[in-house]
Amino acid sequence: MGKSISIIVPCFNEQDVLPIFYKETANVLSGLNCSYEFVFINDGSNDKTLEVMQELSKKDRNVTYLSFSRNFGKEAAMYAGFCNANGDYVAVMDADMQDPPSLLTEMLNIIVKEGYDSVAARRVDRKGEPPIRSWFARKFYKLINRISDADIVDGARDFRLMKKDMVDAIVEMGEYNRFSKGIFGWIGFNTYWLPYDNTRRVAGETKWSFWKLFKYAVDGIINFSQAPLSIASWFGIVMTFLSFIMLAVIVIRRLVWGDPVAGWASTICVIIFIGGVQLFCLGVMGQYIAKTYMETKNRPHYIISETNKKGIRKVK
Ligand code: UDP
Ligand code: MG
Repeated sequence: MGKSISIIVPCFNEQDVLPIFYKETANVLSGLNCSYEFVFINDGSNDKTLEVMQELSKKDRNVTYLSFSRNFGKEAAMYAGFCNANGDYVAVMDADMQDPPSLLTEMLNIIVKEGYDSVAARRVDRKGEPPIRSWFARKFYKLINRISDADIVDGARDFRLMKKDMVDAIVEMGEYNRFSKGIFGWIGFNTYWLPYDNTRRVAGETKWSFWKLFKYAVDGIINFSQAPLSIASWFGIVMTFLSFIMLAVIVIRRLVWGDPVAGWASTICVIIFIGGVQLFCLGVMGQYIAKTYMETKNRPHYIISETNKKGIRKVK
């Protein structure tokens, strides 16, 4: 006894699932030899999620809720949770029961008995997900592992239980553009990957459209890899080299065969092609500059408009 566990739960419009989640998870937690706290983050929901949290906090004094002044996104919500979790062990879980609470028992066992610093859940299948989404997800994990040094496992979820040391490291990573899967990989530590079968949401619907996920994937790449920048410069070098060769060919042809006025169409093609490549590379650079711009502004990650705990830093 003596050890405590914190459960961080980002919630955006989860009024239907939150009571179910709380009940199931509290049930599992009471079976562990640990005291616990819930840190619910209301990420600017426009349904009754906040009311549900207030209800729960009245019934259970181990419930802390932080309510954002608007929707800041799941990454900001998780960060708020990490900054305000006090447990010796900290877990992040989705509210929709896609992260089975029953896994917590096994996770805690692995950390305590086998000496790992964290245990992360990994889905071994993607049942109930549109096939195109799965296909893009797989390609994304392949690509990001090749071009960045943060090791990210395919099917990794944000669901994991970790020791306080790891949480402190995460809080220290105060970047504005956050990509948790990359952050978890980047900080290192010994992680045990716990496979499990995908489960569907019990109620409500996913907050991630295909487009939102796609943008998240691009963010992940830009935040954890400089490869696109190198690719852009290599492309430039290769193109320049090729153009020198082409120039030599043209000069020689002129000297040997005279100057037939031909090749107008192909010239235009080449100009358009190179223009396109230049714009693309500029765009890649622009992405990095935009990220740098946001980082240098040093804006807060989130703003808390309401909470039931005293002494919490409302803007961070
Ligand atoms: N979430 C959040 N802010 C957002 C979007 C989602 O806090 O802007 C929370 C959501 O309430 C849930 C978790 O993040 O607890 C995962 O979201 P969801 O289940 O919609 O994602 P999926 O499981 O479909 O990837
Ligand atoms: Mg979900």
